[in-house]
Amino acid sequence: MAEEPDDPDRRASTYSYRDVRQFADDMLEVLARERIWCDEQPEVAELRAMLDEHEAEDIWRSLLIPADGEDLRAVEIIAEATAEARGIPLQNLPPVYLISRTSLRRYACLYEEVWEDPTGEEEDWTVGRPASRLAVLLGQEVEDYGDLEQSWLSATLFWGWYGEIEDAHQLEPGEDGVGEVVIVSRPPMPAAFVGVISHELVHFLQDQWTGWRLHDWYRDAETTDELEALRWVVEGDATLNELYGDTSPLLELLAGIPWGPESNSEYDLWYRAHEALIPQDAANLFAAYDQGSSVLARLRAESGQEAIDALLLDPPESTEQLIHPQKLTSDEQPIALADLERLQAELFPDTHWDEPIVDRMGEHWLHSLILSTTRFTTLARSVSAGWGSDQMALWESQDGLAEVVTWQIVFDHVGHHREGVNGLRTWLYLHADEEALADPDDPFSLYRWDGPTGAVRLVIEPHALWLVAANGPALADEVAGGILNRTWTNYW
Ligand SMILES: [Zn+2]
Repeated sequence: MAEEPDDPDRRASTYSYRDVRQFADDMLEVLARERIWCDEQPEVAELRAMLDEHEAEDIWRSLLIPADGEDLRAVEIIAEATAEARGIPLQNLPPVYLISRTSLRRYACLYEEVWEDPTGEEEDWTVGRPASRLAVLLGQEVEDYGDLEQSWLSATLFWGWYGEIEDAHQLEPGEDGVGEVVIVSRPPMPAAFVGVISHELVHFLQDQWTGWRLHDWYRDAETTDELEALRWVVEGDATLNELYGDTSPLLELLAGIPWGPESNSEYDLWYRAHEALIPQDAANLFAAYDQGSSVLARLRAESGQEAIDALLLDPPESTEQLIHPQKLTSDEQPIALADLERLQAELFPDTHWDEPIVDRMGEHWLHSLILSTTRFTTLARSVSAGWGSDQMALWESQDGLAEVVTWQIVFDHVGHHREGVNGLRTWLYLHADEEALADPDDPFSLYRWDGPTGAVRLVIEPHALWLVAANGPALADEVAGGILNRTWTNYW
């Protein structure tokens, strides 16, 4: 039976993703400053006046002006050099849009009224992924990013972007793949943006190479792990092939083209947006570029560019395969894990649950979790290196009273399991500000912590370990006890 929360106010705050999250507060503070900035800009006032007759979305889209003149000539030179370096002939140049960071920031002000009352409409905030709920139940200071936060963050964080723009085929009708565009902040282009333009053009070449299937693959990725693995390949390849404007012969080709000076004022916004991310999210965001490009550089050195081309056509399903190259060639698949439906039915025969949201977080996510909390690089490496598979699930009862996240992690063998137990215990201990306790009845099997927004239990089994988080200590105990006492396994 699901537990009744004892204090309705506390329950409200557990479920309120707005009131209690430091991240949201920070974000609002940044946005409040942005509002003042917006109000001071005469250009923003003009844009806002257009809202009487136009949709914000249409005004936003009017920002997209294809590069022409000298800018276009520079893009063409960079595109040719990129295709040559990457080894995929360019069939046609996609439309390239150049937007200044300052304009981007002004246009973002069109959406700022949404932030005036962030405690307003529920549907403006999306929640869902098990990891976000886990973070909340762990009392992590994090807001699950909804669409609006996402668009705000991307408006401030990105340098270049490759993707689809709706109706782009009407702007430039043609063959498949036209409508994929590159956006790079700030014309006239400073030399620094040669790297960004070439990076985005590699994405275009990748899409061309895969038969315009990149977006399908992003859409079809079923787990965080699979999505991360895909990002490592796609972003790693693009990062590896970034060109620099200060190296000849590109330098000579671009010599006659005027480059505008880059003003630093807008970098400030970038840093603030970046700092608004929680450390683990920031680490995961950039891992695709950093670790992804190292992994692919090694692969290229060992097996040539063809190996990366092949990887793009058949992306790995797991970051584990990229971190351990021998697993890439052996095509080892992650192990299947506990039957959650059976577990649920056994533990709570009378409770009606929503369809659980199930995710696999992967080796790299485990690594970034341990590292961002403990700061121990060796520990994070030794725990994650033995990752065999994992399964994170979010269960919610239909009456809305019970919320549980279970995370089962299986390690490759006994030694790795020991490292895993050690690492997760250290992580929970530090995460809980040293308030997590061993169970007095069974000090070696269970760690527990009753935090401000949820209760956490670390359950240690012979070949696996589970993290259980719930919106109440009794519920957490019930699930943890049920896992320990169950008589079946189905993950070996
Ligand atoms: Zn990229």
